[in-house]
Amino acid sequence: MQILNSIPELHLARRLMTGSVGLVPTMGYLHAGHMSLVDYARRENDLVIATIFVNPTQFSENEDLTTYPTDLPRDFSMLESAGVDFVFVPTPEMMYPRSFQTYVTVEQVSQGLEGAQRNGHFRGVTTVVAKLFNLTQPNIAYFGQKDAQQVVVIRRMVEDLNFPLKIAVCPIVREPDGLALSSRNIYLNPEERSAAVVLYNTIQTVNSHYFAGERHPNRLLEIANDVIKAEPLAQMSYASLSDPITLYDLDMPTEDPMLFSLAVQIGKPRLLDNCILPLSLNTRDGVTAVLGVDEKAR
Ligand code: AMP
Repeated sequence: MQILNSIPELHLARRLMTGSVGLVPTMGYLHAGHMSLVDYARRENDLVIATIFVNPTQFSENEDLTTYPTDLPRDFSMLESAGVDFVFVPTPEMMYPRSFQTYVTVEQVSQGLEGAQRNGHFRGVTTVVAKLFNLTQPNIAYFGQKDAQQVVVIRRMVEDLNFPLKIAVCPIVREPDGLALSSRNIYLNPEERSAAVVLYNTIQTVNSHYFAGERHPNRLLEIANDVIKAEPLAQMSYASLSDPITLYDLDMPTEDPMLFSLAVQIGKPRLLDNCILPLSLNTRDGVTAVLGVDEKAR
């Protein structure tokens, strides 16, 4: 595995690459969720580029940019064992030199859900992802369903700006008790870690009512609220049932797939989780079809 520490090094390496390239962008402190993206990329491409960059422009002032967990030696050994060919690790100064003044903004789909809670977050995400796409020129870029809105926003950007690549969406990897893996789970103390299972319990409860025939978004949200309220350490940021393409909140029953998203503060971290209803769609093909496919191809 070649570690590329600068943009000129990446340019040179990219010029010498032949065959298809899969890109896995990350902020590091890798876990099995990231590695599932790497595994898909490894299977589906001739070469795999992973990137590790804690992108300052997607953090707002009150967030954890300066304390975001990092362990590059461990990340490198995980990536190397998984057969990654190149890892690009730029510094903030390389990605955002003093002269930097160009940002990419996706308008409507970046406004609700996480966008409503985190001012400027998606502008930072789309800007850095556009730069990483230009720098690595992948055939397929891999993103996790864990950040479902991020997938929808990036897919919109790819279509709108005609990036010549495909987006692959990979299902959420969970701990044995159902908690979605996240680098920020490290912030949870043991008591909070036990409480954090409430997100998955909420998903399961909502799903069982959906399975039993409940289709009214308001009723499903009431059910979700009740589960969260019963956990004293959990503070609801939002729960939403939305159209998986527009991300507009649903207010009428529908048989079309719905995106159920949840953000809950437990101790320091805000934890995110989501599922597509019906639950049978939460497979690689299902999430890619619902969240990651070009609208024109539908
Ligand atoms: P991050 O390092 O948090 O920016 O995440 C990098 C990529 O890994 C993003 O596309 C995430 O959606 C994805 N990811 C994070 N956690 C998980 C998980 N538990 N399961 C699957 N993918 C994940």
